[in-house]
Amino acid sequence: MLEARELIEHQIWWQVRKGDSQFWFDNWTGLGALYYINPGNTYDGRIQNVKEMVVQGRWNRGKLMEVLSEDIVDHIIENITPSRDERGDDRPWWILDTSGEFTIKSSWDFIRSRRPQLDISKFMWIKGLPFKISFFLWRCWKYKIPTDDVLKKMNINLVSKCWCCISPREETIHHLFLTSDTAKKTWSFFCNAAGINMEGIQLQKLIVNWWKAPVTSRLKQIYAAVPSIIMWELWKRRNGIKHGHRKVNSSVIYLVLISIQRLVLYRNPSIRNIPAGWKELVQMLEGGKVRVKVTQVRWMLPPFGWCACNTDGASREAENLALLEALKYCKQQGHQNIIFQTDSKTIQRMLSEEWKPPWNIVGWVEEVEEYKRDLNVLFNHDLREANKLADALANYALDERPLQCYLFEELNVQMRKILNSDKSQIPYLRIRRC
Ligand SMILES: [Zn+2]
Repeated sequence: MLEARELIEHQIWWQVRKGDSQFWFDNWTGLGALYYINPGNTYDGRIQNVKEMVVQGRWNRGKLMEVLSEDIVDHIIENITPSRDERGDDRPWWILDTSGEFTIKSSWDFIRSRRPQLDISKFMWIKGLPFKISFFLWRCWKYKIPTDDVLKKMNINLVSKCWCCISPREETIHHLFLTSDTAKKTWSFFCNAAGINMEGIQLQKLIVNWWKAPVTSRLKQIYAAVPSIIMWELWKRRNGIKHGHRKVNSSVIYLVLISIQRLVLYRNPSIRNIPAGWKELVQMLEGGKVRVKVTQVRWMLPPFGWCACNTDGASREAENLALLEALKYCKQQGHQNIIFQTDSKTIQRMLSEEWKPPWNIVGWVEEVEEYKRDLNVLFNHDLREANKLADALANYALDERPLQCYLFEELNVQMRKILNSDKSQIPYLRIRRC
């Protein structure tokens, strides 16, 4: 039972409020207790509570860097709201259940899945997938690849630098395959259309989610291979950059998709036309009949006296951030009545309190709630086509450069066109397989 307690304790996440969690021994970063994840299990006993790392409402980066590795420090600064005295006691959340409530069942499932150990060989070897790719996943699982964190554990001294990002971080398996920009973008592309949860979980859990997804057997064979293929392509990209090959620009998403299509063809030789898109591929393997449905979609003109905000982000994090920025801006400008239009159903449902937010974003939801006290805020869900301008701006910022526009004249031709047709309420046609 004691052993179980130790396992279970790591599954409690402490939401930082006034910062009275134990800095080293409570899991307040969502990554596990810092004592366990800091290289070599070292800790500095002079630091007791999380709040000691906050100065005037901000994380003290210098102090954090003295005791933690850079990727952990970045994780903290980017993801965790600094503590404030008036926010009350830090709050525990049970992370094995999306609601954050403790249940005996989820803890039992967790202990059981730990012991006997998951038989990974059952999932790892996939017919039709090149052996080197399956074998590579096995090596990652067993920490047998030469990333810097693994080398350090073997007492090889080096200054760690990742190869996957423009401004390099420390290279760890966790960073390279899960939290780097490229990894995050690739996983969310494939997870979103497949309905696989990737929020706030570790790499191994994410892989298992793919393996154990409750889907049709045709799809199961493919899902089982997706993690290996993604990790293999991320690894190839990293090595390509490290060894100075110039041509590493082809997108990881594209390369993964090609491998998946090949596998689908190998496993289902009778299929004639394999869809080019991932979403369509999933739909086809789910076995749905192909029918087409056409809907008219318009950008929603806000009622008189209301101000409309459209958000769109490359990732959920980006969209969450955009929403807060918009609230801040509206408040500064003195707008009282604000309608948000987002194409993310999840965000809309959480913020209109239809859904209880998952534990890993409660901090963000609370910040939004604070604004809602002073302003009239509504959240609407609309279809992607009704959000064209926000989408065009987000893509421009991703592909070209960051930009800020406050006037019509500052938009480019394409964006002006969208804005004009939105204003004149010209509908878009949404054509979908159904
Ligand atoms: Zn990186």
